Amino acid sequence: MSATYATTHNTTHTGSRSGSSANVIELDAVTRDHGSPPVRAVDAVSLTVARGELLAIVGPSGSGKSSLLNLIGTLDRPTSGRARISGHDVSTLSDAALSALRAHRIGFVFQQFHLAEGTSAVDNVADGLIYLGVGLSERRRRAVTALTRVGLGHRLTHKPNQMSGGERQRVAIARAVVGDPPLLLADEPTGNLDQKSGTSVVELLHELNLAGTTVVVITHDVELAERLPRRVTIRDGRVVSDVDSRVAS
Ligand code: ADP
Ligand code: MG
Repeated sequence: MSATYATTHNTTHTGSRSGSSANVIELDAVTRDHGSPPVRAVDAVSLTVARGELLAIVGPSGSGKSSLLNLIGTLDRPTSGRARISGHDVSTLSDAALSALRAHRIGFVFQQFHLAEGTSAVDNVADGLIYLGVGLSERRRRAVTALTRVGLGHRLTHKPNQMSGGERQRVAIARAVVGDPPLLLADEPTGNLDQKSGTSVVELLHELNLAGTTVVVITHDVELAERLPRRVTIRDGRVVSDVDSRVAS
């Protein structure tokens, strides 16, 4: 694990939420326009997520969830406003620095799994370490550990087409966490799963969070969102509510 992208410690320690090194995500009036004429997919969103949180970003189709995920995941830069991820201002980093930040600090899980079909579970997961410069045998060793962690120690050499949807998503989650990223982003992780597999994937995300990973789940599924401690609801690109059941209001 490189120290390059270790959390930047703020020297001022103001104690406020803004600028604190304890925050993994700090969005300040972030806007993202797509296309021409521009469509405002994310509209002046301010959102702070502290290290160790587990939250849902919930909203209907077209509300801007994936656009927001792309900003949080540093796959995209804001049109305006400021996005700080792991203490780094996304607007000021080069593409190469953003790639390195992603490789070291962020794991992604998508609705469509995005696994290589003809490749074993171990090698699918081992691929998650390529950008960290880890050698093949060490990648495989860590992949076995990650697969065991997600309950797939008995499916190491299976290929995705020999697995259920729930198992595939577990492989995808193992790949996302094999490099121990502090932040895990999941975009509709249960969208292609039956209810039982979906529930067990959500339980797995809870377990990863309990072990210390900050987890953001993007979903249109209000019931799923209600199983998470914090729910940020977006509509038309704007945050319309932010409910945290851990804190008494
Ligand atoms: P969600 O994930 O909640 O369905 P998206 O972030 O995908 O929402 O989309 C939000 C809005 O931005 C929608 O109106 C969508 O049509 C528009 N949009 C998203 N991506 C693009 C793009 N690349 N070009 C143009 N419009 C886009
Ligand atoms: Mg989406």
